Amino acid sequence: MANPNFLLVAFPSQSHINPALQLASRLLRTGASVTFTTTTSAHRRMTGLQKSDRLTFATYSDGVEEGLKPSTNSLEHLMDETARRCSEALRQLIETSQSKGQNFTCIIYTAVAPWVADVARCYDIPSIVLWIQPATLFEIYYYYLNGYGGNITNESNGPPSPTPLPGLPPLTGRDIPSFLSPGSPFGFLLTLIEKQIQVLKEDRRPRVLVNTFDALELEQLNAIDELELVAIGPLLPSFEGQDSSNASLRGDLFQGSGDYIKWLGTKPAASVIYISFGSISTLLKPQKEEIARGLLSTGRPFLWVIRKGGDHGKQEESEDGLSCEEELRKQGMIVPWCSQVEVLSHPSVGCFVTHCGWNSTLESLVCGVPMVALPLWADQLTNAMLIEDVWRVGVRADGNGGGIVEGGELERCLELVMGGGKRSEGMRGKAEKLKDLAREAAKEGGSADKNLKAFLEEIVSS
Ligand code: UDP
Repeated sequence: MANPNFLLVAFPSQSHINPALQLASRLLRTGASVTFTTTTSAHRRMTGLQKSDRLTFATYSDGVEEGLKPSTNSLEHLMDETARRCSEALRQLIETSQSKGQNFTCIIYTAVAPWVADVARCYDIPSIVLWIQPATLFEIYYYYLNGYGGNITNESNGPPSPTPLPGLPPLTGRDIPSFLSPGSPFGFLLTLIEKQIQVLKEDRRPRVLVNTFDALELEQLNAIDELELVAIGPLLPSFEGQDSSNASLRGDLFQGSGDYIKWLGTKPAASVIYISFGSISTLLKPQKEEIARGLLSTGRPFLWVIRKGGDHGKQEESEDGLSCEEELRKQGMIVPWCSQVEVLSHPSVGCFVTHCGWNSTLESLVCGVPMVALPLWADQLTNAMLIEDVWRVGVRADGNGGGIVEGGELERCLELVMGGGKRSEGMRGKAEKLKDLAREAAKEGGSADKNLKAFLEEIVSS
């Protein structure tokens, strides 16, 4: 039997591209071939891509490159339109490959994109989702959509859920993904998730690959009877102790600058605060001012990522105009982008102030860095709850009922994490323990390795 040939379809955002590239790495290491595909516009922005044996890059157009104007302003209809365009482009990609005698054994796609499964079916190719959020989120959406809505509180100040879901404490309004909140402008995404789950259930063997690890979310992974959640994470770029062959695949959509690693090297162990809000979210200026105030009052060195010109050259965020810029630059370093896993792996980093995107959260866990959580929307609210209440590796900053987190509150949280008291030591100890478990899962013969190999064996033999 020839080695399998995978088509990996990644949604064009950093949080999908990163784990998909790391999955490509893992597949290549097993001897499989991979065609990695994302939209033409995202692919053009990806820097640091390295050629590798048996790895091909292909692109499909969502219309951005051709300057196609959307026919609607409604986000929901826009997504339908994009899915239609992408489906057509993906068909062409598959047909071109087939005409060259290259047949795909399986299509793996980052959720949520049920249209990929529809296309795969037309060509009789098996497909499977790579879920790029924690298993907890899949569990919550699944239960919510399957008649347990009443058990998931979605009023922000409402009482906790009456019946906890497997592996989770009773949820309050501030713990649930923002799509489930009444009046959320993204509520329609729930319909998309529903369609995704439906498509999965129709599979001969309903299952999902999840970027998590067994020891982290065992109960959540086993919470659904009719769907198998297979933990193959943590899917991260190379980190100390991991087999490094092919592990350096990167595809950053943003450009970094500044010798921050050298700067980190001048700081004492666990002394630096690292601050980043991921690749999508934009902070309002008053929030940035409060963060600056909080950082200054701790007196601790910090490395703060403030993205610039990321989204097709548009000025997204800028430190320009921060009232205390000069003092900030004396105490810390501000960069437009960095190699985050490298930063979190650095011994001088002692705390991560994060928006709790799932990749950032997982990266912090793998590096054993405790967190201050400042979630903004979507799954970030639930991830913050996991960080504080379930894994106890950080604290959630209080944003005045969903509003701005004040400088004093950030300072309080940073002292709790970095101040060296009993709670601080407890968080650090738990973070170290999870770091070991994450590395154990990722190494050869670890749970992620075994789970992925079992999946591959079945794909090859079916
Ligand atoms: N990231 C990075 N450098 C930065 C900021 C972010 O490499 O300066 C990466 C980070 O390591 C993570 C991804 O961008 O893998 C962000 O994904 P996440 O799920 O945390 O958040 P999102 O961008 O979806 O909000």
